[in-house]
Amino acid sequence: TRGLADADPAVFAGVRHELEREQYQIELIASENIVSRAVLEAQGSVFTNKYAEGYPGKRYYQGCHPSDEVEQLAIDRAKQLFGCGFANVQPHSGAQANGAVMLALTKPGDTIMGLSLDAGGHLTHGAKAALSGKWYNAVQYGVRPEDHLIDFDQVERLAREHRPTLIIAGGSAYPRHIDFARFRAIAEEVGAKFMVDMAHFAGLVAAGVHPTPFGHAHVVTTTTHKTLRGPRGGAIFTDDEAIAKKINSAVFPGLQGGPLMHVIAAKAVAFGEALQPEFKTYAQAVIDNAKALASRLKERGADLVAGGTDTHLALVDLRPLGVTGKDADEALERSAITCNKNGVPFDPLPPVKTSGIRVGSPAGTTRGFGVKEFRDIADMVADVLDGLRDKGEAGDPAVEAEVRTRVRALCERFPIYQGF
Ligand code: PLP
Repeated sequence: TRGLADADPAVFAGVRHELEREQYQIELIASENIVSRAVLEAQGSVFTNKYAEGYPGKRYYQGCHPSDEVEQLAIDRAKQLFGCGFANVQPHSGAQANGAVMLALTKPGDTIMGLSLDAGGHLTHGAKAALSGKWYNAVQYGVRPEDHLIDFDQVERLAREHRPTLIIAGGSAYPRHIDFARFRAIAEEVGAKFMVDMAHFAGLVAAGVHPTPFGHAHVVTTTTHKTLRGPRGGAIFTDDEAIAKKINSAVFPGLQGGPLMHVIAAKAVAFGEALQPEFKTYAQAVIDNAKALASRLKERGADLVAGGTDTHLALVDLRPLGVTGKDADEALERSAITCNKNGVPFDPLPPVKTSGIRVGSPAGTTRGFGVKEFRDIADMVADVLDGLRDKGEAGDPAVEAEVRTRVRALCERFPIYQGF
């Protein structure tokens, strides 16, 4: 019956530190967000205790009626949100969702095709270091050097040459819309299944402010914690009944054991929130804010990969400023602004250094920042980067201290998790 503070002060202290960090740092990591109190409560609920292997109405354990209740809510809301016929809400993460699709639609040794990591793809799309790159013959397509857009001539050529079983679109650092129809046409031509991993932009699709992959992809995967603003987790969707059956078997018993019922309860809450009209306003603001952030950074001398953004994220090429991604993300962390270093297409620097940073607007938009605040944030970022340019990799301590003060003031004007 003791609460965390009493029972385990050391862990409690860590949680308080994280709360304070989230309250007083500006979060620009494009894959993160700030969930509602309701999502946190559902995830911290007694569903933590429950084993519910199987699916609603077909469980392997007794005592699953409440689990059926919340999982069915999550499924129904997800289907409504994306206008699709089937949803599996059990994947523990985005990587698990992608793994389950591979288990359902391919065999080890098959050829799969995805966007390469250096061009903005994800590890699970066939990168050498990942299972998808080790157990499959993974062919990777990239972007065009001149405009950083997906090189469809290359996609076509590689697809015809290698005849993959599965073609994957989507990525972690691709700032522009993806031509889903063109991918589907290529998949049809070579007899491949077409999967869209919408992990990054799922919330924008849900709100109708981004082109939808439904109607083009055979199967769609997502994470639930990025623009969708839910708990950390994954989900899989399709309109094809035969694929749906295979997906259910691939998630359980294929890849996972018991579903995380507390996370599924929180997914149901987040999907419910995303169905509200306010979420559309939020998602449009996410895009407007990302554009404002990116264009101000460009005015301040950085380059934008692909010339800008259509989404919630921008990839900033720091080479015109003579600064590396590693020095930039460390200096920004010292200044209470969180982002991540990120390779830019054809990056001459290794992944531990990189020539760029990835910045995103989902978390800041949740706390209420608008275009004006995001332009101010771009100026704070640019001031820190100028400090690095002028003073070298240690940065300019005076500028960083001043930016810390500006960040604190902004965070105090837009508080989160009050009364926690
Ligand atoms: N797919 C994409 C496009 C991603 O960006 C990510 C996460 O960064 C994943 C999948 C993996 O999600 P998770 O970290 O939940 O396994």
